[in-house]
Amino acid sequence: MTIDFIRVKKHTHFLDPRKNFQETVIESEIRLDPLTKATGRIAHFSDLDFPSVDVAELSNRSLAGGFCPFCPENVETVTPKFPTNLSVEGRFHQGEAVVFPNLSPYDAHSAVTVVSRNHLVPMQDLMPMRLTDAIEASIAYFRAVNQQEKHLGYGLINWNYFPMAGASLLHPHLQVFATDTPGNYLRAEIEASRAYRQDTGQSFWADFLDEEKRLNERYLGDTGNVSWVVNFVPFGFIFDVTAVFREKFSVLDLSHEDVVSFSKGFQPVLRYMQDHHIYSFNLALYPSATPEDDVWVHARISARGSFNSALHATDVGAIRHMYNEPFAMFYPEQVAREMRPLFIFS
Ligand SMILES: [Zn+2]
Repeated sequence: MTIDFIRVKKHTHFLDPRKNFQETVIESEIRLDPLTKATGRIAHFSDLDFPSVDVAELSNRSLAGGFCPFCPENVETVTPKFPTNLSVEGRFHQGEAVVFPNLSPYDAHSAVTVVSRNHLVPMQDLMPMRLTDAIEASIAYFRAVNQQEKHLGYGLINWNYFPMAGASLLHPHLQVFATDTPGNYLRAEIEASRAYRQDTGQSFWADFLDEEKRLNERYLGDTGNVSWVVNFVPFGFIFDVTAVFREKFSVLDLSHEDVVSFSKGFQPVLRYMQDHHIYSFNLALYPSATPEDDVWVHARISARGSFNSALHATDVGAIRHMYNEPFAMFYPEQVAREMRPLFIFS
């Protein structure tokens, strides 16, 4: 077992105007990601407390131009179709979900999965079946790509839920693409997972989950074959949660039970966000291309918000954007303590 959660505490001294200019000591932390060793900072500034957002008003504003290409009356006429060698029907459907080619592709095989018939889907309506259908419809597309090309590469699924997470359309939709270029972060995870295997003869992911469970500081619980932890070094300034699909490598390895288990475990995370007036998140799936990559499929949910909602201030400032240094205002262990009681399923 060689999983290290390294944190370096820092103490800042200043004369505090809030305490009649008496000397005050403020604590912060620099943390190292246990896999990639990338650094991030935790500076405990405030409680998790955000102003509520009127999502119905946001929805009305988004339809002010009178047109949404993803609404049911438009989606079949204004979105592209796949060539027939990929799909005889032209699109993939499951439940309310529909998958079609991305007009602005990220790679040779690039699609969009519209999650719902409803234009506005508040968090409380992201029910397990809706999530399961959207993810499985996306995987059906990946299976077709794999069958056609005899190769998939990395099957990436990601989600900008609501504008603070980068959504340009409010109607919920996933970005889905197959690529041999997994992106800088996943590539770093693959390199580090392979190096861990070389050094220890073990899977990082098995040891990581064992250690998180033993420490019980950030571990939330299991749903079926999926284990949930709050990230030691969040990407976002609020919190990140990661769901690990145990011993699954490619996105094509995910079974119906795996996807159902993920959709079920997502519910308490959504509930926690709603309880704290967090209305936006990013979701990304990180798969291996082949077992040699040695990364177990995991999904990361990163809560998104505003540094100052009155000014619509983005939550990505110079530290994140220019130095590529994550910076969070809340201790992940505190988030886990609060979220864990929600991980009870009947
Ligand atoms: Zn719509």
